[in-house]
Amino acid sequence: MSIIDRLNDTKAAIRRAADDCERDPASVTLVCVTKTFPAEDIVPLLEAGHRVFGENRVQEAMGKWPGLRERFAGVELHLIGPLQSNKTREAVETFDVIQSVDREKIAAALAEEMKKQGKRPRLFVQINTGAEPQKAGVLPQDADAFIAACREKYGLEISGLMCVPPVDEQASPHFALLADIAARNGLEELSMGMSSDYEFAIQLGATYVRVGSAIMGTREYAKS
Ligand SMILES: *Cc1c(COP(=O)(O)O)cnc(C)c1O
Repeated sequence: MSIIDRLNDTKAAIRRAADDCERDPASVTLVCVTKTFPAEDIVPLLEAGHRVFGENRVQEAMGKWPGLRERFAGVELHLIGPLQSNKTREAVETFDVIQSVDREKIAAALAEEMKKQGKRPRLFVQINTGAEPQKAGVLPQDADAFIAACREKYGLEISGLMCVPPVDEQASPHFALLADIAARNGLEELSMGMSSDYEFAIQLGATYVRVGSAIMGTREYAKS
């Protein structure tokens, strides 16, 4: 199976999952996660018309995407990995959507950088729904206060929430928790669901699913 076959299969599965729960398939956007894959592996997807992509490292995205954007108009690039405050300038330059806002230092740096560049990437707050110590994201019990601080203290418009559930647990309760936090904070967008569980995420209201290996194949991480 080619990358394009897998892209089409994934899109069909998204449509089916949406139909099954009587949602409009157009309300779910597929973010194709291309981390670790070189630009030449991404070109066929762009040629097939796909435009929404996710990367988890600022540096890697800066190497690949400016060139691809020159060749293909209308790309929407999402940062789905952790953001360091010394990388906010590059992140605002490179990404259209930043899904990993998770502390005040980042909120402050983004607010300043967005003003400087006159650019407004859409922002998502990442929630650490499993309260895992090694994982990025705001703890569920701190979410309401953090979202309020983003809005009131830093003047940021927050579009939605993102989560990455613990690998060894059923994802659905985490998706439900994320949907709850979004609803009570008046947030419309939910970025949840990856290759193994995006159909469950769609049942629980995902508006963005982030699918990597199911389309791109297995990732090989560089050793360095
Ligand atoms: C890598 C990654 C994905 C995609 O994971 P797959 O299991 O390959 O679909 C989604 N979200 C985040 C935050 C990631 O880092």
